Order: sequence, then structure tokens, then C-alpha cells
Amino acid sequence: MSYVKGLRCRECGGETPVAPLHVCETCFGPLEVVYDYPAIRRVLTHELIASRPRNLWRYRELLPIEGEPHVGLHSGFTPLVRAERLGAALGVRELWVKDDSVNHPTFSYKDRVVSVAISKAIEFGFDTVSCASTGNLANSVSAHAARAGLSCYIFIPDDLEQGKVIGSTIYGPRVIAIRGNYDDVNRLCSEIADKYGWAFVNINVRPYYTEGAKTYGFEIAEQLGWRLPQHVVVPTAGGTILPKVARAFRELLDLGLATGDFKIYTAQAAGCAPVVQALHKGTDLISPVKPATIAKSIAIGNPADGYYVLKAVRESGGWGEAVTDAEIVEGIHLLARTEGIFTEPAGGTTVAVTKKLIEQGRIPRDESIVVSVTGNGYKTLEAVLDTVAQPFRIAARLADFDALYAGLNDGREASAV
Ligand SMILES: *Cc1c(COP(=O)(O)O)cnc(C)c1O
Ligand SMILES: [Zn+2]
Repeated sequence: MSYVKGLRCRECGGETPVAPLHVCETCFGPLEVVYDYPAIRRVLTHELIASRPRNLWRYRELLPIEGEPHVGLHSGFTPLVRAERLGAALGVRELWVKDDSVNHPTFSYKDRVVSVAISKAIEFGFDTVSCASTGNLANSVSAHAARAGLSCYIFIPDDLEQGKVIGSTIYGPRVIAIRGNYDDVNRLCSEIADKYGWAFVNINVRPYYTEGAKTYGFEIAEQLGWRLPQHVVVPTAGGTILPKVARAFRELLDLGLATGDFKIYTAQAAGCAPVVQALHKGTDLISPVKPATIAKSIAIGNPADGYYVLKAVRESGGWGEAVTDAEIVEGIHLLARTEGIFTEPAGGTTVAVTKKLIEQGRIPRDESIVVSVTGNGYKTLEAVLDTVAQPFRIAARLADFDALYAGLNDGREASAV
């Protein structure tokens, strides 16, 4: 049983029935799923959610599928880690890391949106799925398509990290690398979507895809005992996840399922910060940029939903910042050394931005803070290759280790046993 009433244009408010459509036929505004909230309020309780398996479908009344989910039965419900040591390093009292670096099956937040998009594509009867991707989406669409037995075409820029490329090709899709950046890939894919009639998860089934991102917010709330965090820092690429986390929190508040008040903050890399620039300028107009950053997974110069990021940030009273590639790498190291979590540059970005916002006094030191870690560092080893320690190389001889150990301890006497 579904609680979806249809699709509504975010600009003119015009409604259309559920279909594989993403723009309004009247004004070309983006379409969004509309739910029957009074009906959901009557059935959805904390107890019902708690009784279900620990995956993203536990919030299914607030997700846009009709029948049983087809994929993503192990996706979501990632750890919310109390980050004592990172909190101490940043000088704050209550810090949490929402860790989608261990999402199933492809180690990023994209397993959420893809679970919903592909389940919906199967309901619509598509046999081919596709996407334009900066890497993680490609990985997730490839894996979920393999499991569902769908045919799959993946479009990526031709300069991605090796881990992201192999992390797609291994599942057997057709992978097409485009000479150009993500924005070039996306433009081409809009034409292909029109012509070939495939389910492009982030184009023609985008209204369903974006709904999957709400589960990141639902989980944060549930894992905090249905009390919203006071501050949540979220990365922005195309602008899907941030407004949907805000939307998730508002839905829970409106349904009486959560309490509290939150401020939401956008994190971008200085080499691709069109949304943060607009925020700082106080304008609604996002000027596209040409990306130049190691944070490739969030390097989108012309974000489709950038405007909605600005809106969600401003409505909440939050803010946003951009950080340099050097700060991003420092953020990756800091999170790894303090919490034992290895994230990719997108996560390094949110850690570094959180640090900056705390230092600026934008985020107070004595309130609850959630840092979003959306991707896994094992896929992007290139990003830290020049800044990590190399192993000590010695022969398999005790004397050699003794000498090394003595050296490591600065002449302090080695205490064996
Ligand atoms: C895609 C992605 C994001 C955010 O992208 P949005 O398009 O803004 O939702 C953040 N982090 C990682 C690792 C990603 O792959
Ligand atoms: Zn419209």
C-alpha cells in the first residue's frame, strides 16, 4: 500500500499522476512526490518502524514505491557514531558522524537513492537503467542493476579515480567515459534519456531517486532517539541530499515523530563552490563554475537542485562554507586518526567545513552536531597518496626491528616485554 498522491511541480504547484517524469509540462519546474500525510500519521509510529528490518525501507510509508521493494534490502541503517575524539579535537561537546562510508553494497550515500530509483524503475517496467555520475552513483547503479538482472549503461567523466571506475566495471555494465566534466556528461545524458527511453536514475526518475535521500535524515533522527540534532553539516554536489535531509526532519516534526529544531549547513570544495558562493553573496542566483578540486564526487559546477539547497539552508537559519583541497585532505586525516573512519574527499570536506564553522562561531561548541560522511576513502586512495606515511621496510630479523624500534622512540630505551 502506497501513500503517494502524485507528483507536484515545485515551481507552479501543478499536479500530475505518478509517471517516469521529472519536469513540469507547464513550466519545466522540477517535480516532487506528494504524500497523503494525514493517512501516514494514522499508521506510522516509532514502534512500527522499530519492528522492521534495519534497512532504509523501514520508513517505507514516506518513500514512493507501490509494492514490495525490489532492491536495497540491505542498504541504509548505517552507524551514527558518537565522535568523542574528533569532538575533543574540534573543541565541541556533542559530535556525531553519520557514516555512509559503510553503506551496502557500494559504500556511499548513493545506495539510498539508487535503492528507491531502481525499485521504482522496476515498477514502471523499465529493463534498462542508467545514470550520469561523478563515480559513486555509477558504482551503486551498476551493483543494484546487477543484482536485479537489469541492463545498465553508465556515463562518467573520463578523469575519475581508478577505484570509482573499477567499482563500476566489476559489475558488468556498459561504462562510457566522456571527455569532459560532469556537467558535460549530464547534458549528453539528458539527450540520451529522451532518445533511448531508459530509466536514468538521476534524470527521468529523479523525483523518486531524491526521495531515497530522506532516509539519511530519518536514520539520524531515529538513532538520536527521535530528537533532532541542533546542527547538521551536509556536502553539496547536485543538491539532492541536503534539502532532502531537511525535508526528512520536517516530515518527522509534522508527523509528531520527532522533536527539536535544527540548522543545516552546506559543505563544498573551494574548487567547486557555486552554492556556497551564492549563499555568501546573499543571492538566489547560482553562477555555474568549472570544477577544479580533488573532491571529484561533489564536483558539480552547475547543480540541478542548488537553489533548493540555498532555500533549505536559509529556512533553517544555517550557513555554509567552502574549504581548499589541502584542508579537505587534512579533514580526511583528522577523521581517520580520531575516529578510525576512512572517508573520501567529500567526507574530508564536511569535516573541514565543520571545523571552520565551529572556529567562526557559526556552530556553538555546546550544542549537538552531526557531520555527514557520505563516501569511502578506500575508493579514492589517490587523494591521500602524497600525504600518508609509508610503511617501514626491514628484513625479517629481530635485530633490525630492535634498531627500528629504538630509533622510533628517539633514543629512549626500548623496553622489551
Ligand atoms: C553524490 C555525493 C554527494 C552529494 O551529492 P548531492 O548531489 O548533493 O546529493 C555527497 N557525497 C558523496 C560521496 C557523493 O557521492
Ligand atoms: Zn510547473
